[in-house]
Amino acid sequence: MSSIDDNLHSIKLQLPAHVTLIAVTKTKSNAEILEAYNAGQRDFGENRVQELIPKYEALPKDIRWHLIGHLQTNKVKYIASFVHMIHSVDSEKLLQEVNKQAARCNRVIPVLLQIFIAQEETKFGFSFDEAKEVLSRKDQFSNVKISGLMGMATNTDDENMVREEFKSLKQFHNEVSTAYCSLPNCQLSMGMSSDWKIAVEEGSTMIRVGSSIFGSR
Ligand SMILES: *Cc1c(COP(=O)(O)O)cnc(C)c1O
Repeated sequence: MSSIDDNLHSIKLQLPAHVTLIAVTKTKSNAEILEAYNAGQRDFGENRVQELIPKYEALPKDIRWHLIGHLQTNKVKYIASFVHMIHSVDSEKLLQEVNKQAARCNRVIPVLLQIFIAQEETKFGFSFDEAKEVLSRKDQFSNVKISGLMGMATNTDDENMVREEFKSLKQFHNEVSTAYCSLPNCQLSMGMSSDWKIAVEEGSTMIRVGSSIFGSR
């Protein structure tokens, strides 16, 4: 067995059945992605459109591609026809553009609203109040399905801080999921290589893991 195979396996063994593992493939080769694919992995995440397009074109079509990084509005049109879910909808302008491009492709694209929870200036996302306001008008966006929330914790060794940030997002998720989400099982995308175990303990339903599967970048 390859180490990619081993790594996937050991993470999956530790995951509750309701948590989806998204294998994050940024900077990784098609050969490496295929190793994960051949081990049964089908959900993959990319954070850049320029990297996603050639991978989508070259790799098996039953891969579910998740766009997880900051997305510029002018790039939405390149992925609208095939993207499985966009985790990083961080502004109303972007939500409008996804809606428009999804309509053009005659589909409904599942999206998550990215919520700002970190103590860092570099992270994108809505505040809780902004997200609530957009959720209250979700019926205006008929070609997107708001399927839950996404968040990234502060990049820190302070586990308590990370846990508190995930807790606050989970609490907000509880508050809005029954009121606003279109799906009965509203998703909560949180957790990466360094913090997915904490995220799962705090209620994550989707973890986005790159380096713990494919090695460091
Ligand atoms: C790169 C990335 C990940 C995965 O990061 P790792 O530390 O390699 O697991 C998760 N989410 C987003 C948004 C990313 O850009």
